[in-house]
Amino acid sequence: MENNHINPRKTLETIQPYSPGKPIWEVQEELGLDRVIKLASNENPLGPSPKAVAAIQDGLADLNRYPDADASHLKTAIAAQYGVTKEQVITTNGADELITLISETFLDPGDEIVVPSPSFSEYDFGAHIMGAAVVPVPFSTDFEYDIDALIAAVTGNTKIVYLCSPNNPTGTYLKKAEVARLLDALPAHVLVVFDGAYSQYADAEDYTNGVEFVQAGYPVVALQTFSKIYGIAGVRVGYGLASKSIISSILKVKEPFNVNSLAQIAAAAAIEDTEHVQNSYTANRDGREWFYSKFEELGLSYTKTMANFILVEVGSDGERIYDELMKKGIIVRYGKTWGLPQHVRVTIGTPEENAYFIEVLGSLLASRV
Ligand SMILES: *Cc1c(COP(=O)(O)O)cnc(C)c1O
Repeated sequence: MENNHINPRKTLETIQPYSPGKPIWEVQEELGLDRVIKLASNENPLGPSPKAVAAIQDGLADLNRYPDADASHLKTAIAAQYGVTKEQVITTNGADELITLISETFLDPGDEIVVPSPSFSEYDFGAHIMGAAVVPVPFSTDFEYDIDALIAAVTGNTKIVYLCSPNNPTGTYLKKAEVARLLDALPAHVLVVFDGAYSQYADAEDYTNGVEFVQAGYPVVALQTFSKIYGIAGVRVGYGLASKSIISSILKVKEPFNVNSLAQIAAAAAIEDTEHVQNSYTANRDGREWFYSKFEELGLSYTKTMANFILVEVGSDGERIYDELMKKGIIVRYGKTWGLPQHVRVTIGTPEENAYFIEVLGSLLASRV
């Protein structure tokens, strides 16, 4: 018997399924490979914060208890790190959940979000589940932000402007003065979500993670995650910083126990683990420079990055290169989903992973007919 009369909401027709980087085990099974390296999801190649791992081990005996619905210890640690109050912090099941909660809090059907394009696909997802419209604003040349075009795209229906800096997948970033110019130009009814998922990797002097604008009283949510430099993507913790009133609105749509107890203690330990963060930052900075020199040797153009991944133009046979890399056990992200069929995005891995990627890429380029 078919349930032909059970219809999902109309707006769900606009949703594209999320395409995650393929997991290692799947590629191993499909292709019968022993060695598979994943440079597709911008994970930390050094592994999780050891302090987070130890904290999880200590917490296992208390799994019969519900988590702290307020994530009080974790919020206190986050608030201290940024010099904000606990009431200005919300913690979530990954930053992905925060994007959904922000969408549920602020978007009605017919509202619009303005998003530089290409960027992180979850912003569109959040809008679509609420029946809101996405207004993409293309980057200008070299994937630089077009502030004037962003301002021009804002209408009376715009509720949210998303800014991802450093931007996934381009690696480009917004200068502090550009953020200030944009914020000052926006009408008072527009919330800015500033996604700093990769902020701990950014080293440009004029970079901002957006938090200073929260502190200055702008209607900004600074979004952060424990999935990238802290290396605990598997337990899912993200957070947002904003004014007390914005946070209390978002809390209305939050499930009580959204961040599980192991995730809370892992994140609270990871944020104190400055050694792991510093090592991860240094390794990434070195890997980034090494990749630049290798791409230049191979004659490939790439976009300078402030993050832990690089967008590189491999050529008009981009799909073949992506497929062949996969067959050799190297998972990267193909650019086609971002309208960039000549590009792949590669995560900066360990020196060994990076070297293997370059070796295989070099041989694929050399074997072109
Ligand atoms: C990875 C990522 C996030 C957050 O991921 P979670 O694992 O859900 O915390 C947010 N924004 C961007 C741009 C990302 O790349």
